[in-house]
Amino acid sequence: MNNQIKVTLLAVTPDAQKLIEEAGRTCYLSFDKIGANSASDFIQRLIKMGHDSPLEHACATFRIENCSRAMTHQLVRHRLMSVSQQSQRYVDEENFHFVIPETLPKEHITEFQNDMETIRQMYKKWRNKGLKREDARFVLPNACTSEIVVTANFREWRHIIKIRTSQKAQWEIRIACTEILRILKKLAPDCFCDIETGLNIAAE
Ligand SMILES: Cc1cc2nc3c(=O)[nH]c(=O)nc-3n(C[C@H](O)[C@H](O)[C@H](O)COP(=O)(O)OP(=O)(O)OC[C@H]3O[C@@H](n4cnc5c(N)ncnc54)[C@H](O)[C@@H]3O)c2cc1C
Repeated sequence: MNNQIKVTLLAVTPDAQKLIEEAGRTCYLSFDKIGANSASDFIQRLIKMGHDSPLEHACATFRIENCSRAMTHQLVRHRLMSVSQQSQRYVDEENFHFVIPETLPKEHITEFQNDMETIRQMYKKWRNKGLKREDARFVLPNACTSEIVVTANFREWRHIIKIRTSQKAQWEIRIACTEILRILKKLAPDCFCDIETGLNIAAE
């Protein structure tokens, strides 16, 4: 079964841009310059000069569903991000769902699905032979879907989004990070306005 990847915002720092301005202006003791729209210019100037640390004061948390373990394995390499992921030790995978690679030609989809069914039967076989989930999972594919909750500060999101939406990144993580960027651009436009991706960012 090929599910559509789903990215949901779970939490974000309230008034994130105001907080970043407040923190950043501490460096210059320029609180007198705070006004109704002052955060916008200030944050963009911070970013231009590479003074990124004030962006660490705001965080965002996302749930990503129906993505492959191949994708989450890449995502969790970002060690400054906090992660909680569906466990293959505690959650049974007898009826696992899987992601079909976007690049797979249509004429091969049935063959791919049949391979997944074969693996499902292998997993069941080893479970029936008494292997625990944590060991029966050794036969599972990278295509298995997973669910993951990730939290990072805005500086780290900028870093992750830049490298994971580049043309060199894998298609699935590019889709996830492009969606994260779309959401963050709406919530904190000045913190992310300088980042563009090769993928279309769907309008609301
Ligand atoms: C296109 C692409 C292809 C990739 N291919 C592979 C691959 O084939 N094999 C593979 O193993 N990984 C691969 N990776 C993963 C990559 O090597 C990183 O592990 C991953 O992108 C996390 O990087 P990060 O900068 O967020 O680092 P983190 O490890 O999360 O570190 C965060 C930041 O801390 C600093 N930092 C952390 N540790 C050190 C250190 N020891 N010394 C100095 N500075 C440090 C760096 O500035 C780093 O950016 C690939 C990544 C991309 C984007």
